[in-house]
Amino acid sequence: MPYDLLIKGGRIYDGSGLPSYMGDVAVEGGRIAEVGRVGSSARRVVHADGLAVAPGFIDFHTHLDAQLLWDPIATSSCWHGITTVIPGNCGLTLAPCRPQDRESILGSFVRVEAMPLQVLRSAVNWEWETFPEYLSRLDGRLGVNVAALVGHCALRQYVMGEEAVERAAKPGEIEKMKKLLKESVLAGAIGFSTNQNPVHMRADGRPIASRLATEEEIIELAAVLGEVNRGSVQISVGTPGISVSADKGVAFFNRLAAAGRPVIWQSIAHRWDQPDLWRQLLGMAEQSLAAGIPSYPLCNARLFNNRFNLKNAQVFDDLPTWKQILFASIDQRTEAFRDPEVRQKLRSEAVENRFRSRFSRRWDLVYMIKAATPKNKPLEKKSVAEIAQMQGKDVIDAFLDLSLEENLETLFQTSSNNGDENAVAEILRSPFTLVGQSDAGAHLIYDAGYGYATRFLGYWIRERKVMSLEEGIRKLTFMVASIFGLYDRGLIRPGLAADLVLFDPLTVRDCEPEMASDLPGGEKRLIQKAIGVNMSVVNGEVLIVDGEHTGTLPGRVLGDDRKRQQAEGNRQ
Ligand SMILES: [Zn+2]
Repeated sequence: MPYDLLIKGGRIYDGSGLPSYMGDVAVEGGRIAEVGRVGSSARRVVHADGLAVAPGFIDFHTHLDAQLLWDPIATSSCWHGITTVIPGNCGLTLAPCRPQDRESILGSFVRVEAMPLQVLRSAVNWEWETFPEYLSRLDGRLGVNVAALVGHCALRQYVMGEEAVERAAKPGEIEKMKKLLKESVLAGAIGFSTNQNPVHMRADGRPIASRLATEEEIIELAAVLGEVNRGSVQISVGTPGISVSADKGVAFFNRLAAAGRPVIWQSIAHRWDQPDLWRQLLGMAEQSLAAGIPSYPLCNARLFNNRFNLKNAQVFDDLPTWKQILFASIDQRTEAFRDPEVRQKLRSEAVENRFRSRFSRRWDLVYMIKAATPKNKPLEKKSVAEIAQMQGKDVIDAFLDLSLEENLETLFQTSSNNGDENAVAEILRSPFTLVGQSDAGAHLIYDAGYGYATRFLGYWIRERKVMSLEEGIRKLTFMVASIFGLYDRGLIRPGLAADLVLFDPLTVRDCEPEMASDLPGGEKRLIQKAIGVNMSVVNGEVLIVDGEHTGTLPGRVLGDDRKRQQAEGNRQ
């Protein structure tokens, strides 16, 4: 019998971190059948000379919950060798959700993840109420695999209604949430996510629901995963050391991990406002893991670029006067930005370093990237500091005058994180960090992080040589699969699921994000393409060849195997 697929003559990076070797991979019935020198024939033979053959990459930090409903192959992720995506991070999911709570649930995605409300309203058709129903809606209509976390905000809203954004939960309410979480996990959810980030708000300016939870509530929910002995906890707090003290933050992650399930915490990055914090956090993560506590920090292979104009900006949310103005109507904003007294307040918050803020206050790192009028074209790609110097103004006047002149439509870009590449190299190199914080599906017009894996492979591994390719691939595959309990993926081994990526190690890289009008209703978003990714295979079927979808939909909702086994076990 010929195999379904035979990949011949590639260099196999099997995901374990062991040295790579020349060989073939045979696939049958969605699984890897044979590895090594394969003599048998196959219905489809792919020659992989000069290419790396690796397990498909698993993007574990996405917000694709809504996008997967209209885009089953998860563009742009699928162009970068991603074969499995994990939505439901940062406490946000579209289920469970009662009909009367739909606007509230969408409102969290709109503000925290910067998705256009009109797109969500038109494209999310709510064919579900419970989390298992949401998973069923996805299953059978997927190009990539999906392994989903349950979001704390949705659990709270389901149990408490609008009071979820007003107060702590009562013991009876926590019990209800625990029951819902347990049902979801037994039906295939791969864990639970929560979000304590003090700047995360809904579209109506109220806090997102998970922020009102006590530590005890979160610990009780994590304990549910321990009880069923499956699933992981993902927690966002902003950055420990900023939003909470580093000690307190890490101690809380360790308390959550006492339930016996892995904890994935956000995050370690270089920051200009606290340039040594990353080193402290890395040391603390190492200590926890050395003590046998399964608590893993995540990190990013790229800058978090924030593109904004003053019609739509979150970059100043830590600065009270800015935040207040940016929540006001456009007319009120314009008026405020013109007022010299207001400008003085804005200046004191955004220039003088009086209190901590995610905004770097480095106006030499705030770039004007797109003028809204032809007159200002020559200023493109210059920093606000440079523009101010050219015009003989101070930075705030230069910034606001330019924006006002262009009806607040001037596009800027800045980045507060990962600006020091030597620090980033050390963070990535640590054996304890999970690499990937794509936020795929979120921040749609500010930034596109889909290409973290190709960035990691092309820039950090090939050019900067921060680690071997074998070790890098282990970080993108086996390490992620193990921590999130996807035990039949992340390695090239006979018997495991045939999720594979073929790429050229000499050319692989991410491209600059570009604007496309491919959201429902023709709305705009940033997409990101890759170079050097030749093919991806999902469950044994070829999904993408040279950036083109083959038309197949081989993806599945993962995480329900255990449920099936359990059902069988219960019957015996
Ligand atoms: Zn997130």
